[in-house]
Amino acid sequence: MRRYAILVLATIVLLPALAPSVQARPLTRNLVLITLDGVRTEEIFGGFDEIIASHSATQPYSEIEEVRGRFIGTTREARREALMPVLWGKLVPQGVIFGNRELGSPMRVQNPHCFSAPGYTEMLTGAPRAEVSTNDVRRYAYRTALEIVARKLQLPMGAVAQIGSWDGFSSAAASRDGIILTTGAFDALPARFSTPEADTLAGLRKDVLGLWEEGSEDVISFRIAEAYIEANSPRLTWIGLGNSDDWAHADRYDRLLVYLNRVDRLIGELWDGLQANPRYQDQTTFIITTDHGRGLKGKNWSEHDCSIPGSEWIWAVVVGPDTPATGEARNTPELYQGQVAATLLQFFDLPASTLGPDVRPALPGTLIGK
Ligand SMILES: [Zn+2]
Repeated sequence: MRRYAILVLATIVLLPALAPSVQARPLTRNLVLITLDGVRTEEIFGGFDEIIASHSATQPYSEIEEVRGRFIGTTREARREALMPVLWGKLVPQGVIFGNRELGSPMRVQNPHCFSAPGYTEMLTGAPRAEVSTNDVRRYAYRTALEIVARKLQLPMGAVAQIGSWDGFSSAAASRDGIILTTGAFDALPARFSTPEADTLAGLRKDVLGLWEEGSEDVISFRIAEAYIEANSPRLTWIGLGNSDDWAHADRYDRLLVYLNRVDRLIGELWDGLQANPRYQDQTTFIITTDHGRGLKGKNWSEHDCSIPGSEWIWAVVVGPDTPATGEARNTPELYQGQVAATLLQFFDLPASTLGPDVRPALPGTLIGK
């Protein structure tokens, strides 16, 4: 009886001290950041956009009439589900998406450029950085959330990895070499992290002719990333995709739509594959976002910079075991691209302050209890 009383007393005294730390530790062990370059909120939240389709129909090489039937619908919900069925049918219902201005959840870039390198820097370092004012492929001194995770968790080389279709992703991923694995648009994986399949894919990626000189094919980059994850079980992987921006700059709305539908399928395959992998099942968070928007009508949709209205608007999806299933965010404060960095860090139990004093807080409601 007396022992029982002591045990009860000890439990009462100890519980308040133990409970918060037990609750606060995220269930997420692994995170995959997927970026789709220059994908507008109009397509994400509304699917097929008749304004741009009408413009596309006037272009000499457009096949918009061939694809129209696949993606039209009488409501924006029907159109977006036809375009991105995995996003809207599987991921958003068990997570959250930010950026729908019609629901009072505006999300925007804060850098004054609205093009890629300043956007990825803002996204990964937690705030806009004035020095990053061109798309030049070069490193800057600011540490990224990817580096912070590798250093604070003392992870070995390769446990944090960047794989993608543009050399600018590899320079945006880290302030210097040697902390995380970075790979350029046409690079093979380093031998110690590669597999015969990944080598074959990397060879193919070099040979396949992309739309523009500087980028490689996203589908192959995505498959290389999958092979990398399968072989190396990284804790944090950034898959940087760029062909959405390529098709848009070529003013091929028809191809952009087909591309988004294809990438949606790839994302679904990765999600399902990881849920079938014991190292990832129920302990993996996806963050999916973009670096900038684009123009809203006519030829403007194919371009983007902050002087073109629409270029500032972005969106972000967060889904995983720590994120409440709230679906579409509503009535949030104005949200910023820099908030992606702290959102990522929180899943590794790291505060935003590990990136510096001026970084934006995590996106609201992405971690249960916060
Ligand atoms: Zn871009």
